[in-house]
Amino acid sequence: MRKSYKFRLYPTKEQGIILTKTLDVCRYIYNEFLADRRNAYDRCNRGLNILDQINQVKYLEFNIPVQSQVKQDVIRRLGKSFDAFFRRCKSGEIPGYPRFKSKGRYNSFTYPQSGFLIEGTKLKLSKIGTIKLKQHRGIEGKIKTCTIKRELDQWYAVFSADLGKCPIKVEPITSIGIDVGLNSCVTLSNGEQFDSPEFYRKSEKSLTVQQKRLSRKKKGSENRNRQKSKVVKVHRKIRNQRLDFNHKLSRILVDRFDRIVFEDLNINNMVKNHHLAKSISDVAWGQLIQMTKYKAEETGKFVELVNPYNTSQMCSGCGTLVKKSLAVRTHKCPECGLELDRDHNAAINILNLCTVGTTGRACGVMDNSSGNEAGST
Ligand SMILES: [Zn+2]
Repeated sequence: MRKSYKFRLYPTKEQGIILTKTLDVCRYIYNEFLADRRNAYDRCNRGLNILDQINQVKYLEFNIPVQSQVKQDVIRRLGKSFDAFFRRCKSGEIPGYPRFKSKGRYNSFTYPQSGFLIEGTKLKLSKIGTIKLKQHRGIEGKIKTCTIKRELDQWYAVFSADLGKCPIKVEPITSIGIDVGLNSCVTLSNGEQFDSPEFYRKSEKSLTVQQKRLSRKKKGSENRNRQKSKVVKVHRKIRNQRLDFNHKLSRILVDRFDRIVFEDLNINNMVKNHHLAKSISDVAWGQLIQMTKYKAEETGKFVELVNPYNTSQMCSGCGTLVKKSLAVRTHKCPECGLELDRDHNAAINILNLCTVGTTGRACGVMDNSSGNEAGST
């Protein structure tokens, strides 16, 4: 099982220049070999062999030295985006051809095996130098890869470590359904609610203000550029706050419950996605689900995704559909008389979708003796 660790890097000015140049080289390779693949595909309707391309890139020289494996990794990345492209073609989705990367759109490179070493508070990188590293936590397992990442004016090192065998799956005793709302609020099927912190919502408001200001600035002006970087900075702040919130919440969930059921946001998106606020919040909640998954995997617990269709309208007591608009915050069932917070009702439905059928009832104790199968999807 893999786990990744992200640490901030503090390159000197000169090192920053070398890192940027390395990114430029990688981007150049990506675009060049993408062009080759495009040609091959357009002319002969076929893909190019990844090994051939890797052999070619080995012998390419640039104005700054770049470790050979780093160059080869670019080809592998390109290969992956083509694999995904062909997969989408096959499954009949709108394929979206792999695109050329512009300057701001290529922000990381990877040492896939070697060429990097942590030495105390420094990270030694082949062909680049020894860069100051803030390692705020220890790394478990064996480090496999090191990715250097640029996020605006900051640099990070992301290590992927192999933790060895997967932990033995626990037998799920406690299950919980989670409803994620538009208003940055999470409701559990036991009625508990987790509200995102005040400062997070403040940043979101500030983003709206800054974006409005940006839209008023003249295109191409110095003022606009300055405003643009302000917007980007607020974005980063929100991203970090969200990361922090989701880290903490996912930890709480995994510590307390064996099986955690979310709505499958992808299913929802396929049906309709013209609600902007919804798609933004989906990104945030997608992260919460991912983090919960990782943490659950580490401890042998389960995360399940269910189709959210009708979960907000259906009565969790008797199954009757009770139509209500987004503004109606309370679920009132005319059939069985159940009266419940709207999100709480949805969370119970989400849980039921997963547990009914395996155990016969929601929130129930598993009577299944082989817990290993219970959680597999
Ligand atoms: Zn009812």
